Amino acid sequence: MAYTFPKAYLSCVSPFRPSYLYPLLPIALSSQIRSLPPMHAFNLSASLSTTPQDKSSPPTLPSQKGSSSRWKPMCLYYTQGKCTKMDDAIHLGKFNHDCSRDLEVNISMLKCIPSQNLDFFLVLDLEGRVEILEFPVLMINAKTMEVRDFFHRFVRPSEMSEQRINEYIEGKYGKFGVDRVWHDTAIPFKEVLDQFEVWLAQHRLWEKQLGGSLNGAAFITCGNWDLKTKVPQQCKVSKMKVPPYFMEWINLKDVYLNFYKRRATGMMTMMKELRIPLVGSHHLGIDDTKNIARVLLHMLADGAVMQITAKRSSTSPEDVEFLFKNRIR
Ligand SMILES: [Zn+2]
Repeated sequence: MAYTFPKAYLSCVSPFRPSYLYPLLPIALSSQIRSLPPMHAFNLSASLSTTPQDKSSPPTLPSQKGSSSRWKPMCLYYTQGKCTKMDDAIHLGKFNHDCSRDLEVNISMLKCIPSQNLDFFLVLDLEGRVEILEFPVLMINAKTMEVRDFFHRFVRPSEMSEQRINEYIEGKYGKFGVDRVWHDTAIPFKEVLDQFEVWLAQHRLWEKQLGGSLNGAAFITCGNWDLKTKVPQQCKVSKMKVPPYFMEWINLKDVYLNFYKRRATGMMTMMKELRIPLVGSHHLGIDDTKNIARVLLHMLADGAVMQITAKRSSTSPEDVEFLFKNRIR
């Protein structure tokens, strides 16, 4: 069951200003690791979530007064590293603007993580079937499991009519209450990637001048659809080449299959099997990215090592080689 934010919470949020008013200034998210009581890795799900579904830690609703550390719903107007009310104390008291809040880890989990071949994981979960509508990437430190940063943009389709876009956004994002913020902030895919490349460079993960693949980092996706299928399709529509940092990735479902020796067909199955409660709304990119990251953190704490599972051929990029013998087809 997906948890949707009551409309009343959103009514206090002012309309979003056009995106060009916002300088490209990603905010480094809180990096603290809370010292929670030692907990075995299998209890991880309880420590990672305080969503309404999590009976072990009932949430404090925004209307209730309490300490600043209580659970707050994610501000749905938070995109491009900020929202219009970042200087409004009442708003900040009601809404969470820190993605790492739903991804807290405890010290005992860190002891269990095997050494990884990568420094950072970039959890990516695209939304949009016809054209990409949302591009969220959560950057996670492979050693400390902390959320280093979050890149999020809503994406404006380039070949859809205005009427079709309106219908599409109303149907998809209307139910989450973010259709307004989508319309106010969505930018074309090409601009999203331009900004993403600046963000990658700021984190020293990739440099346009050097080209090539990511430096010490890899994308983590749930399935091959995002990077094998959707990105090349969108690049074609947006009349651009597939950028070189999208040449390889880690399909979490393949690592899951090889590590646990169990097949999981999707994010919900993995979460169910690992007893991780859902945070936020399924199919809202921001929330799915966080939930996939929670599966990743659970797997790391269980001892999994993340490895590249799929690679494009450099001579014919449409050909993808799958590196695991046992994989989800
Ligand atoms: Zn906000």
